[in-house]
Amino acid sequence: MSGRRFFVGGNFKMNGNKSSLDDIITNLNTVNSPETDVVVAPSPLYLDYVTNKITSQVKVAAQNCYKAAKGAYTGEVSPAMLSDVGVNWVILGHSERRHVFNESNELIGQKVKHALESGLSVIPCIGEKLDEREAGVTEQVVFEQMTFIKDNVEDWSKVVIAYEPVWAIGTGKTATPGQAQEVHEKLRKWLADNVSDDVSKSTRIIYGGSVNAGNCKELAKGKDIDGFLVGGASLKPEFLDIIKANA
Ligand code: PGA
Repeated sequence: MSGRRFFVGGNFKMNGNKSSLDDIITNLNTVNSPETDVVVAPSPLYLDYVTNKITSQVKVAAQNCYKAAKGAYTGEVSPAMLSDVGVNWVILGHSERRHVFNESNELIGQKVKHALESGLSVIPCIGEKLDEREAGVTEQVVFEQMTFIKDNVEDWSKVVIAYEPVWAIGTGKTATPGQAQEVHEKLRKWLADNVSDDVSKSTRIIYGGSVNAGNCKELAKGKDIDGFLVGGASLKPEFLDIIKANA
């Protein structure tokens, strides 16, 4: 036993409407896994809606936020606004933010810093692209991404790292349990070498990329895999099985 609480996040991305969210919420309100942290991230438009309807056992996260509390930043949402509507978690640096919206390591670091200072817990995402894996630079890429996160974190108890190889996201191509465990182990060692032994032992590192009910149990056996960030399957009833992957 690692002593780290199992953590399962659902990232709804730009999916759902009130009607489909009602179905998902009805399903999630049957969750009975008090030993697991469960967090779901609907579109920002529905954060308040979901927060008001969901069981207290499931926490709600935003999929992104900005690096400032308020101001002339059209279209952005601040951590202060998230807190105001009862949202205490935020996913930052998701691969779609990095690669569709061109967010840099610098910006993601600034967002991590501001979100933490504003009292949110954060789920920073890292991961290599297919060409980077094939070029053998996975470690280099994820360690560099980690450096920008590390430089902006003081309290690691509010951080859950999501390792999500870009080639596995939404592709149906999951990393094998061995591939995922290998990177998680290296990340944990990186935390020991670059932050501290305590932080390395206590920080949850979750895996994301085509996780589903069929592959989650094998992945969860990896000793450094502390849970999942789930996209597509978090919109389906099988999300409940993924929540119980370590049972
Ligand atoms: P996926 O997405 O499970 O649909 O691959 C994972 C993610 O983007 O967090």
